[in-house]
Amino acid sequence: MAESMQGLKRTHRCAEVTAKDIGKSVTLMGWVQKARNKGGIVFVDLRDRSGIIQIIFEDGDINEECFETAGKLHAEYVIAVQGVVEERRGAVNENLTTGALEVRAYMLRVLAEAETPPFPVEENSRTKEELRLKYRYLDLRRPDITANLMLRSKVTMLTREFMAKEGFLEIETPMLGKSTPEGARDYLVPSRVHPGSFYALPQSPQLFKQLLMCSGYDRYFQIARCFRDEDLRADRQPEFTQIDMELSFVDQEDVMDVNERLLAYLFKECLGVDVPLPIQRMPWQEAMDRFGSDKPDLRFGMELKDVTELVKDCGFSVFSNAAALPDGTVRGINAEGMGNMPRKKIDKLVEFAKGYEAKGLAYIAIGEDGTIKSSFAKFFTEEETAGLIRAMDGKNGDLLLFAADRKKIVWNVLGALRCELAEEQGLLDKKDFRFLWVTDFPLLEWSDEENRFTAMHHPFTMPKEEDWDRIDTDPGSVRAKAYDIVLNGVELGGGSVRIHQNDIQEKMFEVLGFTKEQAWEQFSFLLEAFKYGVPPHAGLAYGLDRLVMLMTGADTIRDVIAFPKVKDASCLMTSAPGIVSEAQLKELGIEVTDTKESEQ
Ligand code: ASP
Repeated sequence: MAESMQGLKRTHRCAEVTAKDIGKSVTLMGWVQKARNKGGIVFVDLRDRSGIIQIIFEDGDINEECFETAGKLHAEYVIAVQGVVEERRGAVNENLTTGALEVRAYMLRVLAEAETPPFPVEENSRTKEELRLKYRYLDLRRPDITANLMLRSKVTMLTREFMAKEGFLEIETPMLGKSTPEGARDYLVPSRVHPGSFYALPQSPQLFKQLLMCSGYDRYFQIARCFRDEDLRADRQPEFTQIDMELSFVDQEDVMDVNERLLAYLFKECLGVDVPLPIQRMPWQEAMDRFGSDKPDLRFGMELKDVTELVKDCGFSVFSNAAALPDGTVRGINAEGMGNMPRKKIDKLVEFAKGYEAKGLAYIAIGEDGTIKSSFAKFFTEEETAGLIRAMDGKNGDLLLFAADRKKIVWNVLGALRCELAEEQGLLDKKDFRFLWVTDFPLLEWSDEENRFTAMHHPFTMPKEEDWDRIDTDPGSVRAKAYDIVLNGVELGGGSVRIHQNDIQEKMFEVLGFTKEQAWEQFSFLLEAFKYGVPPHAGLAYGLDRLVMLMTGADTIRDVIAFPKVKDASCLMTSAPGIVSEAQLKELGIEVTDTKESEQ
């Protein structure tokens, strides 16, 4: 029978009891992790968010009724216990911080009984994720998820503390707003008062934070929830959290400076890890050329090598044709020590490459004894093969993989392959934190789909002064004052210096194919505000979920979000999104014409 806790006051969390408390009486409350009834003695592992401590109920120490109750405890019962802290008589449990202690109980109260949970509440659960997410409130009791959320809380607390010390103001911006320029699909909220009109949930506080700069709040930050209606990949959520900031009267280096100090502070305080400053900088072009990615993982080598010149006139048409393309290239990576990879596995790599739009993958496998297996042997003389191996620094036992196509495809394929192989070789140590700033992004990106340039970051990103005179003649070559912070192959955050000059902004809209009217229609309030004195400003935003995922070593961001959504953007626990009543729709002036059958 469940009782109230009247008259009792918790003195400690379970794992906060230490050797200093030996001999003291404590009152603990929590969930039964495990109860073992050994006849005259009952052992209970008591759990709360801090961890576990062992409680002993022994006949004679405690009244008959309580002792009997102790014998009937089950997993997940909520209990209150009073007892005396003792040194553990049995073997010390090295896995628990309280493993050398136990509490000899003299009082027990059951505060709530519990049905058998649908899965055991335990660390490193083998339960299917769908089931865990359906009963997320039980899943959140598990120690590994608890530790993740505790670290997350620490990160946000420390961020607030750091930003306050650096003179930032925390200011909230609206959730119900207008479309922001981040380029993803918006989540829309219908307006009842303005039938047919919709708010957009913010993809980021971008425009508002720039307006705050216009208003003179020269250092703003916010731990901001953002919404993007994109097709979900493993590391995406429809709603996610950004550490968002904007600064006035600064240039790129100032933003990078504050942010690398923030990161160093967080890693030191949360993980005891020293981040050497300044963090390495790498221009975007170099990142693409060397790593095939704008978020290179620097924990391992396997850099891309350009062999276009060497093979452009060879007899292997896959190489020579690619080299002849206007933007064509032939590049390779050396997977050291993987030369004995079985044919079947290499075929799998070829399939993997095709997933990145490659037509195929050419390879040279060098055996430990120097024997060479090459997928294009018949088109190459022995000397040509030897020359290519030399260019790739190939040694006995190495596997050389080549992609030939337009640059964009080759970068993508080899960039992804590099990471795939590193994973396979166990080169990805989650405790090795390699930070990198990627700078000098292209201002514009050509969209084949839209047949026009689009902004690579967003339309308010400042071009590099020295490139601006090429905006009409060679817009694709203009670089931006944009920067991303990358950690172990993951883009942690990004930002830019913003345009604050009217003429540059107008030109930028023109290049992006906006008419003046269209630009004004979408961003009138910002452009209007800029007329009344706008300071030079710049900013950056981090994905908090990703940051915490990397800090905790979690495999997915779902493990660092209390109530995450799954791939199809639904919540398995609440079943959101859901159908609403006819009356609600009517009030909003909305008629639904298309419903997923499963939801009818
Ligand atoms: N608003 C940008 C983003 O969400 C970040 C920034 O430019 O500050 O990616």
